[in-house]
Amino acid sequence: MRIETAEHLEAFRTELRAFIAQHSPGTKHHTGVRAPADDLVPAIRSFTAALFDAGYLGADWPEEHGGRGAAYDSREAFVVAEEIALARTWAPIGAFQLAAPALIDFGTDEQRAHFLPRIRNAEDIWCQLFSEPGAGSDLASLKTRARLAGDHWVIDGQKVWTTNGQLADVGYLLARTDPDAPKHKGITAFALDMRTPGVDVRPLREITGSSDFNEVFLDSVRIPVDRVIGEVNNGWRIANSSLAHERSGVASGSVELVAQLQNLVELASGDAGEAARDRLGRLAVHVHVTDAMSKAVQSHMLAGTDDASDAPLVKIFFSETNLAMTELGIELQGAGGIAAEGDADVAQDGWWQDAFLYARAYTIAGGANEVLKNVVAERALGMPR
Ligand SMILES: Cc1cc2nc3c(=O)[nH]c(=O)nc-3n(C[C@H](O)[C@H](O)[C@H](O)COP(=O)(O)OP(=O)(O)OC[C@H]3O[C@@H](n4cnc5c(N)ncnc54)[C@H](O)[C@@H]3O)c2cc1C
Repeated sequence: MRIETAEHLEAFRTELRAFIAQHSPGTKHHTGVRAPADDLVPAIRSFTAALFDAGYLGADWPEEHGGRGAAYDSREAFVVAEEIALARTWAPIGAFQLAAPALIDFGTDEQRAHFLPRIRNAEDIWCQLFSEPGAGSDLASLKTRARLAGDHWVIDGQKVWTTNGQLADVGYLLARTDPDAPKHKGITAFALDMRTPGVDVRPLREITGSSDFNEVFLDSVRIPVDRVIGEVNNGWRIANSSLAHERSGVASGSVELVAQLQNLVELASGDAGEAARDRLGRLAVHVHVTDAMSKAVQSHMLAGTDDASDAPLVKIFFSETNLAMTELGIELQGAGGIAAEGDADVAQDGWWQDAFLYARAYTIAGGANEVLKNVVAERALGMPR
């Protein structure tokens, strides 16, 4: 199923594909949102800037900040996400997909004039400083404190799982400014210069062997009052509104699964037993259901008819199908499955070994699946809590 039947979107896709081939920073050897090697970061910045410059990113921004106004077709964002995934190259890194809408909808003119051009030319990489050791699914219970001291806020606390924190120039930070208010009402959003004294970014080494996210310790960090995004104590609304803007994610996962399915078939290489063939067949069904669901949800989003279950169901189907595929990818290698990436003769360069270890991350990031199932049950099906 394809939703972009319009001729101009097919032309858009063709041009974009050529553009990515010309400007991309090369092939990404691992699945997921991974930290690039330091020497690759300049090429990813250039690619990001080129995508903005050509209007493939930021086309939905206000025209005075480089958007295309009425000429923009909102289906394009899904095509861009798909083509970047299909090219197996680096997506633009950083949390600007969250920060830009927050600045556009809630920021001051000065903040927009300062930050948006720096996002467009990829001078600033943003990170998302939301989660804490005791506040992930229940984000509103975050404890990082911000106290007003003259013309600065002083921040103390700890964040965790900060993707690309080690590369970031600016952090989109949530901190508690009113500890006496109900928990959703005492939170404020800030733009934090990551080079401020007292910001200590410590990479976490993951089971994959890479360090894709970090702990960030904040010790008496001073943020000027003009770096509050929106109103003080309105951060919960701002964060939720910017999370709702990031919709193109429903497009990239399923195209990756379709491509992976082909690799899995090659791995089975004709001599897989009946049980493995049966699993492969079932997985093929799940991959195509996920893809069809993703296209249907994109279409609901474009028509404004999406409900509370749409994006969560795509994410649950994608991450669980992906996990099952990586398990089969390891099992199909028999004893070779215990080889690690980098070992001699490991199948498909060890891609499945890494993908298997990473697969749990997809079931957690962007909302843990159990929590999303609650959302589907309570908000879409109207079941009791
Ligand atoms: C790859 C990756 C990248 C990330 N990047 C960032 C980032 O850049 N910035 C950032 O701020 N955060 C980031 N996160 C954090 C992410 O948002 C949290 O991991 C997520 O919200 C879950 O929170 P938690 O890890 O604290 O787990 P918890 O909320 O403690 O959950 C632990 C377990 O309990 C279950 N659970 C919790 N509540 C319920 C419930 N009500 N009902 C049923 N089960 C429940 C969960 O499903 C899970 O299995 C990232 C996470 C991952 C995996």
